[in-house]
Amino acid sequence: MALYANGQAPAGLLMTLPDTPQFNDGRTAMALAGPCIDLYLMRHDCERETGHRMRINDLYRDLDAQSAMLARYGYPRAARVGTSNHGNPDKQASDIDIKTYTEPIFVWIDRNGMRYGYKTRTVKGEPWHIEHQGQRAYQSWNRYLAVLLGATTVKVWQRAAGTPVDGIISAPASTLIRRSQEYSNRTYGMRLVVDGIAGPATIRGIQTDIKAKAQPNLVVDGLPGAGTRAGIRRLLGIA
Ligand SMILES: [Zn+2]
Repeated sequence: MALYANGQAPAGLLMTLPDTPQFNDGRTAMALAGPCIDLYLMRHDCERETGHRMRINDLYRDLDAQSAMLARYGYPRAARVGTSNHGNPDKQASDIDIKTYTEPIFVWIDRNGMRYGYKTRTVKGEPWHIEHQGQRAYQSWNRYLAVLLGATTVKVWQRAAGTPVDGIISAPASTLIRRSQEYSNRTYGMRLVVDGIAGPATIRGIQTDIKAKAQPNLVVDGLPGAGTRAGIRRLLGIA
């Protein structure tokens, strides 16, 4: 069962891809949490391994964005409104800024993309167009949080939580996440399973704490992006 009709995602389901410039038409890079987290980690790992930074030209497209594409390029270059795989929750498409099948970034994604759920070569003649297989993240949220926050912030958090300080949020389970879950249960009466595995409910616990102590306007949505990162840093007293 699809989570929503093509191009009609309710706002609360979409997460913003952190550290990504707006698209040419001013839209923000957004997708369901799974494809978003996987894309973030894929870009990070690709850059570390190839030295090339993946630029994202498009991700989720709502019906308005699909209309604009169709008006600009016509059918069949652009999909009919309501049928684009950039609006399909089960096949979240992303366009990477690459033009040929021989560019290092394409070669890297072609070889490694499926570890992040992203399949290449799904549209003939469009090396830039890749599609995520399903709604859930292939990579762990623990690792995503570690990369999102950066080792320095993780170390400060570990010191504050009284766990070993190594700058890593281990996957699948992490002592730091376990401490965070216990804290949310104790302080906010949440009923999180204390398993050390971050997910939307664990993130809601962290966001509840940020909202209560540091950032009253933070939206508690279980989707960990730049706002949650800023909030965690503020909670920890990092400027
Ligand atoms: Zn595309």
